[in-house]
Amino acid sequence: MIYTDVLIIGGGFAGVSAAQALEKKGVATLLIDKKNYFEVTFATLRDISDPDYTDNKARKHYQQFLSGDFRQDSITELSHDHALLESGQKVTFKQAIIASGSRYPSLSAAKSHSAFDLDSRNKELLKYNQQLKMAREVLIIGGGLVGVELAGEIGYSFPEKNITLAHNSSALLEGFKSKAQKKALEQLTALGVKVQFNSRFQREGEQYIDQNSEEISSADVVLEALGTLPNSEFMKKHLADTLDEKNYVIVDQNLAVKRHDNLYALGDVANVGEAKLGYLAQQQGRYVAKSIIKKLNKKHIKQYKRNPLMALIPTGQKTGVVQLPFAVTTMQALVNMKQKDLFINKMYKAFKS
Ligand SMILES: Cc1cc2nc3c(=O)[nH]c(=O)nc-3n(C[C@H](O)[C@H](O)[C@H](O)COP(=O)(O)OP(=O)(O)OC[C@H]3O[C@@H](n4cnc5c(N)ncnc54)[C@H](O)[C@@H]3O)c2cc1C
Repeated sequence: MIYTDVLIIGGGFAGVSAAQALEKKGVATLLIDKKNYFEVTFATLRDISDPDYTDNKARKHYQQFLSGDFRQDSITELSHDHALLESGQKVTFKQAIIASGSRYPSLSAAKSHSAFDLDSRNKELLKYNQQLKMAREVLIIGGGLVGVELAGEIGYSFPEKNITLAHNSSALLEGFKSKAQKKALEQLTALGVKVQFNSRFQREGEQYIDQNSEEISSADVVLEALGTLPNSEFMKKHLADTLDEKNYVIVDQNLAVKRHDNLYALGDVANVGEAKLGYLAQQQGRYVAKSIIKKLNKKHIKQYKRNPLMALIPTGQKTGVVQLPFAVTTMQALVNMKQKDLFINKMYKAFKS
């Protein structure tokens, strides 16, 4: 049996930032992730279209930068005071941070379904790149954040290919301001991407058929960017009543799990009431670490302050759309801030401080 003061389930933006902040203040943590590497997802789609751009710098072994203890394993069950691991081990804890994030069932390129070690993940992304190189025609299904960015990256890196982005409604980037939706459309169109609205391509045997128009796609590579699901299955046995109808963990104003003040949930797996984005998961991680330290020192804990949606969405290597709280812009100076290295250095630097 293993004991830790603070168990952290998942080493994404949320879990790693919480772990680093706690360790800095002398609180012992054990972070468990099924992968042995952290991935800056902001760079993943460029790694598929132009692997030389970041040279695999987006992914690092946890041991390269994580201050606390790390174990590569999978949590299979969680209760209020212990967790069971796939390896058969049991971990008991005083407090646990649930930061198991989300998965991308339709697209292993976005978050891997099976490449749990760094080398195999790098190889997996390279394989996507090779498929794209060989393709004549590419169909991307889904015009959300990932679909738009993917279409932009492929459109930029492979201008000679026939690329279609098919979306099931009449505007890209649902939830964003309409100016951001229009600018993204303009930028993709300028790259030669054909955006097809109100179409619902579905796989039928070997073919993709638009359920609305009955068009059969002639694409030789199809990438489905159809959204995420929360990784909360390990809570179903003992903590099912803490999940909402879509299996997100219900949290209070302090990101504590409903009726369990020694459990916290944050990032993509939690129903925080903020956009599901990496930089917000990172902020939530820091907040939870601070709360735990304040609780240990019997100090007052301020409520978590929700943030408005902000995003910088690249559409290829030169352009992008920036949504700020009160404005939308395509200003080059702002776009370039992310284009430089897709915030890879910024992220690893933040984990150090
Ligand atoms: C392609 C792509 C591009 C993106 N671009 C941006 C962007 O530009 N800006 C932005 O802010 N956001 C972006 N996002 C969103 C961002 O990646 C997510 O919001 C972020 O990953 C959420 O962080 P998290 O820590 O909550 O969860 P995750 O990053 O999903 O991390 C969860 C971790 O938990 C582990 N885990 C899950 N279940 C278990 C288990 N049972 N046992 C052990 N470990 C487990 C997983 O392996 C994973 O490492 C992008 C997402 C994708 C897919």
